[in-house]
Amino acid sequence: MDSTEFRKRGMEMVEYICTYLETLNERRVTPSVEPGYLRHLLPSEAPHEPEDWDQIMSDVEDKIMPGVTHWQHPRFHAYFPAGNSFPSILGDMLGDGIGCIGFSWAASPACTELETIVLDWLGKAIGLPDHFLALKEGSTGGGVIQTSASECVLVTMLAARAQALKRLKAQHPFVEEGHLLCKLMAYCSKEAHSCVEKAAMICFVKLRILEPDENASLRGQTIYEAMEEDELQGLVPFFVSTTLGTTGSCAFDNLPEIGKQLERFPGVWLHVDAAYAGNSFICPELKPLLKGIEYADSFNTNPNKWLLTNFDCSTLWVRDRIRLTSALVVDPLYLKHGYSDAAIDYRHWGVPLSRRFRSLKLWFVLRSYGISGLQHYIRHHIKLAKRFEELVLKDKRFEICNQVKLGLVCFRLKGSDKLNEKLLSIINESGKLHMVPASVNDRYIIRFCAVAQNATAEDIDYAWDIIVDFANELLEKEQH
Ligand code: PLP
Repeated sequence: MDSTEFRKRGMEMVEYICTYLETLNERRVTPSVEPGYLRHLLPSEAPHEPEDWDQIMSDVEDKIMPGVTHWQHPRFHAYFPAGNSFPSILGDMLGDGIGCIGFSWAASPACTELETIVLDWLGKAIGLPDHFLALKEGSTGGGVIQTSASECVLVTMLAARAQALKRLKAQHPFVEEGHLLCKLMAYCSKEAHSCVEKAAMICFVKLRILEPDENASLRGQTIYEAMEEDELQGLVPFFVSTTLGTTGSCAFDNLPEIGKQLERFPGVWLHVDAAYAGNSFICPELKPLLKGIEYADSFNTNPNKWLLTNFDCSTLWVRDRIRLTSALVVDPLYLKHGYSDAAIDYRHWGVPLSRRFRSLKLWFVLRSYGISGLQHYIRHHIKLAKRFEELVLKDKRFEICNQVKLGLVCFRLKGSDKLNEKLLSIINESGKLHMVPASVNDRYIIRFCAVAQNATAEDIDYAWDIIVDFANELLEKEQH
């Protein structure tokens, strides 16, 4: 494809994307295909000869689209949102066009510097303390874009592990590191995302999963008692991962209490995972949810969830960038450059060497919407969630199972877990609406998340009508 054809095909692609997004509500939300469906539609080998672009695009519509789950559909209410907006898509397009690999400052200075500036912008808008900002006088911290929240948790745990091992090695210089490693203990709540467990597996450290309170919030006293007990057993607490906005029910760990208790355990790294909820802290009225952040060593949120930015764009801030990078620095001669001491080299801030120009899309989003536009978008979703909550509360056959603070409503039919499993299964099978379950306080609940960028009150009412229709049908059948 030469640039003349790219111009033509590019315009056609923009047209295709616009039409796709504008007519999404005519499609099923979820596909009705079986595993392996695509193998029967595509050849088993790549074509030897070049193929015609029109043929490729016609296969997109006929073969790919039938297997797509439409995350931007107005009646997709599963998981947390997958951020999407035209400025963000254009940012990714430009980044792909430039095609630089910004592993160091020298590898593409703008790629590094824009990331640092945009992370400071967003950090300030969220209300992070100054020590998390890279360009603040005297600050030792800074922000970085990672691929996912899972990666943010992993790299902070790796950094905390390296710090803990260094301290232990200084106290016990003749003990092998492998022996010290098996003493390390990390902590999180039962409601934390499974990525904490995965990080502990990768880091080869023990993880103690603690019981939250009745509001799915991890409390300071629980952490304190667990850590004290473990210390008495000769173990070494080194990392606590807290969550602001849990995946199951958007609950908030009690960060002020946990931070206060951790003062009794110097050197323990406190991480805050706010993958979804963190974006909402750009609204002044929601900043109280960030209380206790002054105790944290690191904080992550995903603009690619709730800030109109396409995947991947997971932002991580650390209080002390040297403590992060010292766990990850490997410096072969071919990657060194003349400004290695003065500039940020983001390859030391994460696992991969190669990095895309991801800050472009976030920069485009922040500038195109402005903080006020993004606040409006967040508030709109919260309003829709509140509307849905009211609809549920009006029907006495249902109950609400979480404190609806942001865009997620957890609800269930009063009755058994089995009944609710059935309800969710028939709704999802219909393809009219998509929601997913979670287990909160050991009960099966259904999650309804306001997700679509332009969802309206009518979309919410329509979704509720669908749920009620299926519930009527199910309850009637159950009675016979
Ligand atoms: N943490 C929380 C609180 C989440 O809700 C999620 C996903 O929804 C994750 C971590 C994992 O996010 P990612 O897919 O970016 O790794």
